[in-house]
Amino acid sequence: MAIADVSVGIKTLDHWIDGKPVSSKSGRFGTVWNPASGEAQARVGFASVAEVDAAVASARKAFVEWRPSALSRRAEIIFKFRELADANRKRIAELITLEHGKTLADALGEVARGIENIEFACGIPNLLKGGFSEQSSRGIDVYQIRQPLGVVAGITPFNFPAMVPMWMFANAIACGNTFILKPSEKDPSVSLFLAELLKTAGVPDGVFTVLQGDKVAVDRLLEHPDVKAISFVGSTPVAKAIYETGTRNGKRVQALGGAKNHMLVLPDADIAMAADAAVSAAYGSAGERCMAISVVVAVGKVADPLVEAIRERMAKIKVGPGMEQGNEMGPLITREHRDKVASYVANAASEGATVSVDGRQSPVAEQEGFFLGTSLLDNVVPGMRCYEDEIFGPVLSVVRTDNYKEALRIINENPYGNGTAIFTRDGGAARQFQFDVEVGMVGINVPIPVPVSYYSFGGWKASLFGDLHMYGPEGVQFYTRTKVVTSRWPDPGSSKVDLGFPQVR
Ligand code: NAD
Repeated sequence: MAIADVSVGIKTLDHWIDGKPVSSKSGRFGTVWNPASGEAQARVGFASVAEVDAAVASARKAFVEWRPSALSRRAEIIFKFRELADANRKRIAELITLEHGKTLADALGEVARGIENIEFACGIPNLLKGGFSEQSSRGIDVYQIRQPLGVVAGITPFNFPAMVPMWMFANAIACGNTFILKPSEKDPSVSLFLAELLKTAGVPDGVFTVLQGDKVAVDRLLEHPDVKAISFVGSTPVAKAIYETGTRNGKRVQALGGAKNHMLVLPDADIAMAADAAVSAAYGSAGERCMAISVVVAVGKVADPLVEAIRERMAKIKVGPGMEQGNEMGPLITREHRDKVASYVANAASEGATVSVDGRQSPVAEQEGFFLGTSLLDNVVPGMRCYEDEIFGPVLSVVRTDNYKEALRIINENPYGNGTAIFTRDGGAARQFQFDVEVGMVGINVPIPVPVSYYSFGGWKASLFGDLHMYGPEGVQFYTRTKVVTSRWPDPGSSKVDLGFPQVR
């Protein structure tokens, strides 16, 4: 791995440029914590503007050779990378758990969903097929082709340090672009391991780059004239700023933001199944998933038994270090984030909510790492901070409503629109919800409806800025531009001067 010991006693994580580790010379570093122990375990060098420029120059040079490479060759390399990622699932998952804190089982799930995107990209020869119209006019054929953009960049969040980069780079590279990844500074190691695997698979130097860093690196990527497109996943304020700056600088941008995902439970729902789903989707990965359920909207008489069933299940969740088998929920990413999440629970009662379970009282909150127990806030209403903000932690709110119409209004008025789910036994009600709801990804008795890799992922409203969703067919669209060719092979006998506008009949 691209990790070297330094005098300060902890390892330093490098960039990956031109197919090898490159140390940052900026003198600026970030701390990589072990969330389970609360200790610093590494530092990561932050890129300077000059280091970004060097990485872009390397990626631009590599594009010259990569772009004309045969589709079958690209598919072969992506396929080899898929095999390597498959063989190294456990190692990738361990790197995730050590820096992110999620349980190893959850990290393995992340790797599995990431690999699905690699598998999709193996079909690139088929995905890049264009269209052909013979005889659009006499002796004239018209066809459309898809071509790569050039150097493209991806800026990714801490919560899926392997899967979200795979959402982006698999398609980007397969389409013939060269890709620069700016991973989260909180858990950067896995990106370097993936870079090594890509190189082993045969990806030429400069085709895949890792730039470690913060806002300095991102700002330079956003203004660099040789970067043609930006894919971003992270919080809404940053997503919005990246979309605005990137597009102002003439780049293609897709920027996925934060979320507040509602799970609507109708009175006819199976209570046990809905409670299982709510607890799994709210507290899995300590609530640090953009598709986590953070609000249950309980309609009518279902509320009391549902809250009781959720409380019963919460009491059984095993919280502890992610590397220890049997634990179901790990710590939060940093001490500051843990404290911020806890502050929502601390303020909930004064806002009028009922603190049904207080995660701050859990014995796990006393441990050395960044742990917090699970919390349940009942009688939450829009307007409260715990409802309005994306908490991004193990806190589930329950909003009680009298009927479907009111529940739907609440969901549709929420500024976010990433994911939602309905729990019911009534097919007609579920179909109506799917028709009505203003959210990009909908689950019917499925709490975390992350689309499979051959569909595309994206929310609506403040959860996505840009036109195209991520990965799948829209990912291929995002990383290519179309060209339409109108072609005639000369028949000198029919050639003449004609100043009129071209007619087809
Ligand atoms: P974040 O917005 O803090 O950081 C995301 C990336 O942007 C990181 O690489 C970070 O270094 C960079 N960044 C941070 N601040 C920046 C700034 N001011 N200027 C330029 N770059 C900046 O997000 P995070 O805390 O890493 O991740 C959690 C967030 O991501 C949550 O809001 C979550 O909902 C969201 N998320 C969304 C999706 C989705 O698909 N919609 C998926 C995963 C995570």
